[in-house]
Amino acid sequence: MITRKSKLEIQTMREAGKIVSAVHAIVGDAVRPGVTTLVLDKLAEEIIRSRGAVPTFLGYRGFPASICASINEEVVHGIPSAKRVLRDGDIFKLDVGATLDGLVADAAITIPVGEVGEDVKKLIRCTRDSLFRGIEAATIGNRISDISFAVEDVANKNQLGIVRDYGGHGVGHRLHEEPHIPNHGAPGRGVRLKAGYCLAIEPMFNLGTDEVRELDDRWTVVTADSRWSAHFEHSIAITEEGPLLLTLPDGASQPYLNGAVL
Ligand code: MG
Repeated sequence: MITRKSKLEIQTMREAGKIVSAVHAIVGDAVRPGVTTLVLDKLAEEIIRSRGAVPTFLGYRGFPASICASINEEVVHGIPSAKRVLRDGDIFKLDVGATLDGLVADAAITIPVGEVGEDVKKLIRCTRDSLFRGIEAATIGNRISDISFAVEDVANKNQLGIVRDYGGHGVGHRLHEEPHIPNHGAPGRGVRLKAGYCLAIEPMFNLGTDEVRELDDRWTVVTADSRWSAHFEHSIAITEEGPLLLTLPDGASQPYLNGAVL
């Protein structure tokens, strides 16, 4: 069942989303060649707790850290480690959730470490762009797969692979709620979107194949051909005025709302 969140619940998720956004900004600033993903994880946890929230991922189905830290061919769910050092030319995927007063916000960004190649820049740009095309489609009366189609369209037009085994999801009282939101598919399918639905939309595009596999650590997902992957995610709320982005920075203007501010 898909739950519709109240205005108050959405306001709390927006506050949780500001914390997630602060983690992206502060941890993103700390990303540089030589830093380990464990250091970034500890920094993220400190930011989340200092703002009165709880790291959603820590302990989720046994996940041992506050962020998912995925590098290069790692798609999602990388485990932070003192042995994983970022190097010049890498790309780092930072996925983080914060739970505030029992409500969750979840978002991810891809950060270049130093200088990256043109093909990788394009991969990052297209993946981010597809997230916003997906968000634009998240309006009342549209269906779930209208989001999927909008995301897939960007990958197809740019000859990029699409991760099909993972996708977006409902979010709110739990990290993963219904519905599942594939990043591919024909439009006009699935439930109709209603005000109060809160969704985490999260395209993952690859330079090569769509195919992915899970490593022996039972968490880290990598591309089957070891070519690189990018990931962007926002949590949003469907409102009468349009999609409200929950995981933007504090004070950021809402690009899809018709002048309404919660
Ligand atoms: Mg998510």
